[in-house]
Amino acid sequence: MQSFSYLRPADADAAIAAAAQPGKKYIAGGTDLMQLMKDDVERPAQIVDLDALPYTKIEAGPDALRLGALATMSDVAAHPEVARKYPVIAQALLASASPQLRNMATMGGNMLQRTRCGYFRDTGFACNKREPGSGCPAIHGQNRLLAILGGSGHCIATHPSDLAVALVALDTVLELRGANGATRQVALGDFHKLPGDTPHIETVLQPGELITALVVPASAAARRSGYLKVRDRASFEFALVSAAVALDLDGGVIRDARIAMGGVGTKPWRLPAVEGALRGHQAGDVAFAAAAAQAPEGAMPAVQNAFKVKLMQKTLVRALRTVAA
Ligand SMILES: Cc1cc2nc3c(=O)[nH]c(=O)nc-3n(C[C@H](O)[C@H](O)[C@H](O)COP(=O)(O)OP(=O)(O)OC[C@H]3O[C@@H](n4cnc5c(N)ncnc54)[C@H](O)[C@@H]3O)c2cc1C
Ligand code: SF4
Repeated sequence: MQSFSYLRPADADAAIAAAAQPGKKYIAGGTDLMQLMKDDVERPAQIVDLDALPYTKIEAGPDALRLGALATMSDVAAHPEVARKYPVIAQALLASASPQLRNMATMGGNMLQRTRCGYFRDTGFACNKREPGSGCPAIHGQNRLLAILGGSGHCIATHPSDLAVALVALDTVLELRGANGATRQVALGDFHKLPGDTPHIETVLQPGELITALVVPASAAARRSGYLKVRDRASFEFALVSAAVALDLDGGVIRDARIAMGGVGTKPWRLPAVEGALRGHQAGDVAFAAAAAQAPEGAMPAVQNAFKVKLMQKTLVRALRTVAA
């Protein structure tokens, strides 16, 4: 690990001013950043600790759920209003990492965790995301776990977050704070970028910009929602394929549907065509199978991950059945 200095600012503006300089990096729970630093993948000259900032609140109001960016995965998963009105969020969190990690890891850090592509995390290999222009060995190499949607000839890494899949399905908006107190809101669906020919640029965040909160609109669909994660082992493992499903039913007819999937895309993957195919139909296997058939639209599987095309559809049908029951 490269040596680094440590700063713990007392307020957001001091943190933002510090982190806007090149070579600086925020640290929240540290569960991803510290490992990347130990592996020499991230080499910040200074880490700026967010620990003293006041963004830990979880506020469940009538119109929205507001999650402070420093709220931990454990606290959000255990919040009774999250479990009651946004079960897909609680379920996605409880399917992530381990209890120890969830006690440390935060909402903001979770959105910005880096890919688990093995080549990215091993500096012995080339990787366009880690070192722009060096190449992508995954395209013809070990790609079983990688993306079938949203990839490019430069990178096919999957976005690893479970939480982001649940949040993107529910139209979550991120609150960001930049230099001189400037604030802006960005829909989570627009926050992560497709790799294109710049896979090292992963989000629309500006230098030093801080995520301060994640705002999830309340909805009837969010109340009837769930998360299904399919993985190689039952715990402590990233998704092969996952589905976040939210349905609003009117006497068995699907009034509204929100669907996103994980483990398949280079970013948390929302499926508007599947949502459109479900709306107005009687909830049941016929509608679910017909809609799920559209899920892999545009998929470009690599040699080892073509199985995700079928798995995506089966996972989605099972998640829809569970949520509709
Ligand atoms: C063994 C293991 C298993 C895991 N399994 C899963 C899993 O199954 N599913 C899953 O979803 N995740 C999994 N994770 C990932 C875990 O969820 C993330 O490591 C965690 O959410 C990151 O949060 P953090 O607060 O620790 O972020 P940190 O490591 O502190 O930071 C991560 C990144 O976010 C930046 N950052 C942090 N907060 C902010 C902010 N507020 N504003 C701007 N930038 C910020 C940091 O600069 C850094 O670049 C696993 C991790 C490990 C180590
Ligand atoms: S898929 Fe992306 S992260 Fe993995 S080696 Fe290729 S460029 Fe790097």
